[in-house]
Amino acid sequence: MNFVLNILEKISNIVYPIKCIECNKVSEKYLCKKCKAKLGIKIKTEIRNYQNKNFASHIFLFKYSDWIREKLIKYKFRDETYLYRFFTEIILEANTQSKFLEKYDYIVPIPISRARKKERGYNQSELIANELARKIDSISVVNIISKKINNKVQSTLKQKEREENVKNVYEINRKEAGNLENNTDKNFLLIDDIFTTGSTSNECAKVLKKFGIKNVDIFTIAKD
Ligand SMILES: [Zn+2]
Repeated sequence: MNFVLNILEKISNIVYPIKCIECNKVSEKYLCKKCKAKLGIKIKTEIRNYQNKNFASHIFLFKYSDWIREKLIKYKFRDETYLYRFFTEIILEANTQSKFLEKYDYIVPIPISRARKKERGYNQSELIANELARKIDSISVVNIISKKINNKVQSTLKQKEREENVKNVYEINRKEAGNLENNTDKNFLLIDDIFTTGSTSNECAKVLKKFGIKNVDIFTIAKD
């Protein structure tokens, strides 16, 4: 982050102090030390490698249960948009330990349909991706995948149905991808909130591969 932005952020934190998402007290972090200890929250970078998918590795921080599940539901469905700052905070904390973000040049948010974006007002993965790129200079966010079909919500479906449901619903956004044609050998990281069967990630990675991108991984906050 550049110097001026850094100063502006410091000023903004004085005017609008950070408050802990659990106890609501003014804190240095979005999850204060006390609450983190009380809840027993451990942030750990986990990596699973895959041979038979369009992405090589899946990186995640939590099992999708209890506490993190509640936060993700609030973030996605209850309009608690501000939580993107908290999610970014924990991703950066994981990165301080494991440096997993260092190898990536580009982050690609998994898109939501235009209709859903209109209804929710934001793409939850894009907000986090932008905040990460703001904090890490070597990473850029590229919105090079679009959702062309408004399919059924994946969480309502079984595994086989999920695979079918996402088939051919994504495409390369040619306008955004134009200047990336010469950078297809760089490392790309898809980002989403939850990984369940991996169907969505696999389908988005397929679109990137078809465009010529060689190295694609997926990051999600939680794994179901
Ligand atoms: Zn707290």
